[in-house]
Amino acid sequence: MTTLRKPSPAQRAEITSDAAKSMAEAVESTAGQRLRQAGLRTTRQRLALAEILFADGLDRHVTAESLYACAAGQGIKLSLATVYNCLHQFTNAGLLRIVTVDSGRAYFDTNLSQHHHFYYEKSGDLRDIPASHVQLANLPQAPAGQRISRVDVILRLDDAAPTS
Ligand SMILES: [Zn+2]
Repeated sequence: MTTLRKPSPAQRAEITSDAAKSMAEAVESTAGQRLRQAGLRTTRQRLALAEILFADGLDRHVTAESLYACAAGQGIKLSLATVYNCLHQFTNAGLLRIVTVDSGRAYFDTNLSQHHHFYYEKSGDLRDIPASHVQLANLPQAPAGQRISRVDVILRLDDAAPTS
């Protein structure tokens, strides 16, 4: 499921004040702004990947390999190791969340809100499920002195992904 994220007030203000800028420049500065707000320097590599991940405001799930392929398809020359490092830097800075489907497959999610996932085991596709669509009953209490930080539900589907 894909949802548009509303621009923050700061982003709206920037778009308004820079109305004379071309849309491409506005998109570029939004990606750069995301990096700077997260405390990351805007290197060429980070900016290129941030534009793919964040510029259109759509939520997406990527693996290092899928993002590497996407960048290569746009003529952006980066090594897979650089893509992997940038994804972890973005995650550590709070721009992405890791969804671990199994020990060999980690997805990086641009949707930071509480939500769950359908996982299509044949295609490897991951789709969002809104948190409100899953009701959890009878969760055990956290052990003494512990706190449940997050509950992730992955519903595993053994059919191919829909074509939509
Ligand atoms: Zn997600």
